[in-house]
Amino acid sequence: MVATIRVLITGAAGRMGREMTKGLLKAKDIEVVGAVDKVEVGQDIGVLNHLPPVGITIEGDLEKALQQTRPQVMVDFTVPGAAMENAKLALARGVRPVIGTTGFTLKDIDELHHICESRQIGCVVAPNFSLGAVLMMHFSRLAARYFPHVEIIEMHHPQKLDAPSGTALKTAELVAASRTQEPDKPLSQETLAGVRGGVYQGIPIHSVRLPGAVAHQEVIFGAPGQILTLRHDTLGREAFLPGLLLAIREVVELKGLVYGLENLLKF
Ligand code: NAP
Repeated sequence: MVATIRVLITGAAGRMGREMTKGLLKAKDIEVVGAVDKVEVGQDIGVLNHLPPVGITIEGDLEKALQQTRPQVMVDFTVPGAAMENAKLALARGVRPVIGTTGFTLKDIDELHHICESRQIGCVVAPNFSLGAVLMMHFSRLAARYFPHVEIIEMHHPQKLDAPSGTALKTAELVAASRTQEPDKPLSQETLAGVRGGVYQGIPIHSVRLPGAVAHQEVIFGAPGQILTLRHDTLGREAFLPGLLLAIREVVELKGLVYGLENLLKF
């Protein structure tokens, strides 16, 4: 018999929460024991996902749900304002967070790192669970060694709360850390505020929000006589499931924080 990992999901009624719950319910080594959200409280998570009832209903209070369901792992796909508090609550109860919610600052990551170190407990924060997007970030890091001039364009659906995306921020951090040369400053003056994007770690990021978009990103490297473009398109939310499953299986063995799915992959 396969040993199962007991998982509670927060934000279970949201777009990502529903799609991931459907996938987790099918995984043989995962037992979904709890679900939390501010909406659809009392609803069976099977029914919520157009499946037969599974006997797990949405709870409105995370603390109560953690106490009642005793999960090993808490998967979080909520909102930037809630995810940090959820993570601290889970860690205080010895439950390992696997956080997909974006909008974490480096200060938040640092704080989580310290909590995990002092408690010797695992936690994964991954702004992007799509393996293709993680590879795009990895290739961006390689390219940045030779191409210091780079800009990022990310495109998402208009319901996305944070801008820029967590993936764009993470890409900028990786690129900035592996650049061996500072880029030249462009000469152009903005005659329209914000037209050159938001600059993070010296890298302009442009956020497009349009209906029809899911999650897309281009990392454009320019050098005299050539342009290198790395592009990734997420076409459906199921793209995030394999990375999430990997993080859940790994986090139970970890004794600290891992920030970024790339740190769980072998390159
Ligand atoms: P969504 O549809 O708005 O879902 C979020 C859900 O969480 C909503 O039902 C929301 O309820 C609920 N919620 C808010 N505060 C809560 C709390 N304190 N406890 C429990 N539930 C709470 O958003 P989404 O599109 O699923 O995205 C969720 C997050 O995942 C975003 O940060 C997004 O950027 C991120 N994301 C990450 C990845 C990745 O690969 N890491 C991929 C896609 C998306 P209300 O509506 O009442 O606030």
